[in-house]
Amino acid sequence: GENITQNIMTIRSIPLKIKAPEHFPSILEVRGEVIMSKISFLELNKQRENNGEALFANPRNAAAGSLRQLDPSITASRKLDAFFYGAGNFQELPVDSHSELISIYNDRGLKIFNKSKKCKTLEEIEEFYSLMGKQRDSLPFEIDGLVIKVNSKKLQNELGFISRSPRWAIAYKFEAIEATTHINEVINQVGRTGAITPVAVLEPVEVGGVIVSRATLHNYEEISRKDIRIKDNVFIRRAGDVIPEVVKPILNLRTGKELIIEIPEFCPSCSSKLKKIEGEVVLRCESIHCEAQLVERISHFVSKDAMNILSLGSALIEGLVENKKLFSVLDIYKLQFDDLFALPRMGDKLASKLIESISASKNTTFSRFIFALGIRFVGKKTSEILSERFSDIHSLSQASKETLQNIEEIGERIAESVRAFFDDSINMKLIDEMFLLGVRPENPAVKKISNILEDKSFVFTGTLNTLTRTKAEDLVKKNGGRVLSSVSGNLDYLVCGEEAGSKLEKARKHDVKIISEKEFLNLINYRG
Ligand SMILES: [Zn+2]
Repeated sequence: GENITQNIMTIRSIPLKIKAPEHFPSILEVRGEVIMSKISFLELNKQRENNGEALFANPRNAAAGSLRQLDPSITASRKLDAFFYGAGNFQELPVDSHSELISIYNDRGLKIFNKSKKCKTLEEIEEFYSLMGKQRDSLPFEIDGLVIKVNSKKLQNELGFISRSPRWAIAYKFEAIEATTHINEVINQVGRTGAITPVAVLEPVEVGGVIVSRATLHNYEEISRKDIRIKDNVFIRRAGDVIPEVVKPILNLRTGKELIIEIPEFCPSCSSKLKKIEGEVVLRCESIHCEAQLVERISHFVSKDAMNILSLGSALIEGLVENKKLFSVLDIYKLQFDDLFALPRMGDKLASKLIESISASKNTTFSRFIFALGIRFVGKKTSEILSERFSDIHSLSQASKETLQNIEEIGERIAESVRAFFDDSINMKLIDEMFLLGVRPENPAVKKISNILEDKSFVFTGTLNTLTRTKAEDLVKKNGGRVLSSVSGNLDYLVCGEEAGSKLEKARKHDVKIISEKEFLNLINYRG
């Protein structure tokens, strides 16, 4: 009963105009369904969790909620999609069957579900049903079943309607992806940014063909809002690759023996006092010595869209952290065969494979590297945007909050988080050291002049005469070299301008080669 036309018009896959199909009446009343993909749903909920907003229970609610927005720009930001499957005035249309209509839709750019199938027998329908049941998890959106329709318009008319529902169409649902079970215990997991996620340990139960023994409770505000307790019988829900979640307790099964889930005070991994940042719903461990966070940070660093060191799985990472072989992501690049053999079940083959893939990961792209750093709120997409805007990590690290915020799609929250990350000297040092160990993020957007400076690292200090600092650093990069932010024993060159400060002293102490601006320009054959 709501007019959502303005909102519908923001959905990209819905054409605003189509060419009229031949012999069609002047009005075509198109029927379809708006959906939100699993991935957009996850992203949206993650964003809402970060903003301290209430989460959507499932993509269907999220899609409905997004359509009912009063402000179409909010709807536009929600990445909705739509499929079309029928016509309100089907009777008036010059087509003989459902499939004919759908193929006209397809020709005219109205999106259809392209996996639908024309079946001739009930056996074929059963076969297709079981096939789709198997493919269901790998579809980019959730489906709860199929609709089986009589194809011929003539037969449809013969069958007619019972009250308002057609006799020629019926839903054939899949097995439920919700199940009921019992919460035995609640544990707290620590994420890579220190966020604490309460997780229900369940009496194992089968949900849509998979045994589920844990489900997320999201955060303590969700727990209190839904009034979930230990020993409660609960509905749980699992959809595709999404982590199963506890939906709600079954109140009429309560015995009075249920226990309130206490909000933890201390980190389950490092015992630091947990904090809740104002305006956020999640609790955080802010300790930099937290092992659980370290394992998560390293897992993120090596993940597929980051440095892509897939042979370094989470069990191995845990083992290496426990055995004090990894204290930061940097240590990955210091791992030796002997370190690996400290782990159980480590053989020559696996160890070589690991060392090899760690080494291969050093040549990566700038956007992957940004993503790998695990800066809060900087996901894959944001990393790509930043890599297009900045030539390398050095220039990104020097961008002001204002410069960052001036980039479309980068808001205040991201800008502040990026700034805070690079303002932390520990992070800068970590990056410098990674570069010295051979990590080489290439930015395809930067055009190279030469490779004269390959494998050479530079730091600039003092005032340069002919070049600006930015220009000088740019020349290093364009000639294949790297710019670091601080002086250490591994640095190749300190380029020294006038009135050089403490960096010069430090370079002398470390025996770093010190050159003048002119010598630098000669090095790269620069002619102005
Ligand atoms: Zn901790």
